[in-house]
Amino acid sequence: MELNVKTSKRNELVDITSEVQKTVSGSGVKDGVCVVYCPHTTGAITINEGADPDVVFDILMGMSKIVDSNWPYRHGEGNSDAHLKSSIVGCSKTVIIENGKLRIGTWQHIFFCEFDGPRTRTVHVKVIKE
Ligand code: ZN
Repeated sequence: MELNVKTSKRNELVDITSEVQKTVSGSGVKDGVCVVYCPHTTGAITINEGADPDVVFDILMGMSKIVDSNWPYRHGEGNSDAHLKSSIVGCSKTVIIENGKLRIGTWQHIFFCEFDGPRTRTVHVKVIKE
């Protein structure tokens, strides 16, 4: 299953929790695992707090502090900072499914991380029965 994610900024976290849950519900799988995978070299998948939007803001601000966009990178596309951020965050997450629901924490949401937007992105979701 594929999700399409439209991003509107260069750096952005897009909450995809409800779309992932819909995919799980649609699969009919009650117990198993769900793999959420980003097939882009300047995007990533993370799970973090979705209740307070300031957390997302701080994650993006912190990432841009950690990864300097002005280093003398060699890569000609000029988006090496985005490639670094993608590798730091990672391209997939695996979530346990119990009783047909994603077994994530109360405050946890699943985010697609955009580091070189705006673009239209694809996220692969694979639901595996136990
Ligand atoms: Zn590049």
